[in-house]
Amino acid sequence: MGYLFVSDLHLSSARPEPLSRFLSFLASHSRALQALYILGDLFDQWLGDDDLTAPHPDIVQGLSELTDRGTPCLALRGNHDFLLGEGFQAASGCQLLPDPTLVRIYGTEVLLSHGDQLCTDDVEYQQWRAYTRDPDNQQAFLALPLETRSAQAAQIRQQTTLRAQLKPQDIMDVNQEAVRETFRAHGVHHLVHGHTHRPGIHHLNLDGESAARVVLGDWYEEETVLWWDAQGYRLGSLAELGVVQGSR
Ligand code: MN
Repeated sequence: MGYLFVSDLHLSSARPEPLSRFLSFLASHSRALQALYILGDLFDQWLGDDDLTAPHPDIVQGLSELTDRGTPCLALRGNHDFLLGEGFQAASGCQLLPDPTLVRIYGTEVLLSHGDQLCTDDVEYQQWRAYTRDPDNQQAFLALPLETRSAQAAQIRQQTTLRAQLKPQDIMDVNQEAVRETFRAHGVHHLVHGHTHRPGIHHLNLDGESAARVVLGDWYEEETVLWWDAQGYRLGSLAELGVVQGSR
């Protein structure tokens, strides 16, 4: 029994590999899950709960079978799927959580976040984030026909990709002071997030005490996920952690 944390799967029909790994994990895993936590960007694009573009129905179905079998699934929204709403919750059985969310894992208080809020050096991105998280802006966007939303999203993605290529890599990573402020604001010593696609466990000295920031990886080539059981936590692939039967 243990908790599994994943993020940045960016599932879409353009990436069949991570999709099939995720669907087969949902259908069968060798370790019993206390709960599955998805820390954002499960979907590469989610334009509203009426966005039934393939492979969305298969993913929602897989999640619904998991939750029907009694495994809780808790999900944060990422910057690619921040429009996940009540329709998704009802169809998948996953519970959407605010970002950040404080949970207790085997007696340890752990703060969960997608992680994009920590990238404060990217001022342009933070402005865009504020705009897109505004409920009125979201409502106006969701009122558009799906085709219009899809066309607008394609345009925005093109611009974002171009701009990202011009930005220094460091700007798109977390800001260390934002990390410290987040630890302090929530009174925690454990933070788990994704978004940067730079998996790792970072230990830091926080006002004389040790704190750990665990970064999950994306699923493009090989997933880096977090497994947390009574023995502690470990970062690795699903097969390495024994969550699914390894083929290697
Ligand atoms: Mn992200």
